[in-house]
Amino acid sequence: SALLDISHVSKIYRKGEIETRVLEDINLRVQGGDFIALMGPSGSGKSTLLNIISGLDTPTTGEVVVNGRNITGLSESALSAWRLEHVGFIFQQYHLMPVLTAFENVELPLLLFNLGRSERKSLAEAALSIVGLEDRTGYYPRQLSGGQQQRVCIARAIVTDPLIIIADEPTGNLDYDSTNEVLALFDTLNQDLGKTIIMVTHDPHAAERAGDIRYLQKGLIVENERDKRFRSDD
Ligand code: ADP
Ligand code: ADP
Repeated sequence: SALLDISHVSKIYRKGEIETRVLEDINLRVQGGDFIALMGPSGSGKSTLLNIISGLDTPTTGEVVVNGRNITGLSESALSAWRLEHVGFIFQQYHLMPVLTAFENVELPLLLFNLGRSERKSLAEAALSIVGLEDRTGYYPRQLSGGQQQRVCIARAIVTDPLIIIADEPTGNLDYDSTNEVLALFDTLNQDLGKTIIMVTHDPHAAERAGDIRYLQKGLIVENERDKRFRSDD
């Protein structure tokens, strides 16, 4: 069965008389090891969908089942515990703690688990080594380039070995070279380490690195027609 099964998900915001239909009957299945790029115009509901997948937000109707567990009915506290254990986040703005070193930022999510100090250390070091920052563990975020900060974020996202990695515009603030470094790293995570990645991006080149591109339009997932034709032509 699918790692992630989104069925008939809708999201409607109501404020007095005003109703905003953000997502309508979204159906999406993600298998373990998939790398999916989610594209679509601003306001099409991408962030809302990511938030629902990761349990930061709840759908108005429909269900989200992750690894056999229906997360739709969980209480807020159960959901946040579930998220910390099973979802790794990568943000456009990094969201690193400025007063913590690269090592301490990566170790942080591990403090929620019942692990000894030396076990945390070896997991954090292993994650930093996967992203190629073993020689920057003692640096503070301000001492690192944007690309390096994003690699710290990636280490922080994978250190807990989550079921799903969610990346929201991960290359949105990066220059050409750093973008390529980060995308190469995503390839490694996905192809060599078997990680499941869902990435929102506006960058077609970034999206092409994913095996599967989905477009959101006005809250409806539409297939990539151009891509489909391309595939059937070759
Ligand atoms: P995207 O990430 O694709 O830019 P979003 O998911 O951020 O899209 O937003 C989709 C739509 O939902 C937008 O029209 C936005 O204004 C609306 N929206 C988001 N959050 C709320 C909210 N809390 N209340 C009302 N409308 C919201
Ligand atoms: P960016 O500008 O890089 O998109 P944002 O601050 O807008 O970064 O956050 C992106 C998304 O991540 C938002 O949808 C927000 O709800 C979510 N988010 C922000 N902080 C956290 C957090 N600490 N844990 C989980 N999700 C978060």
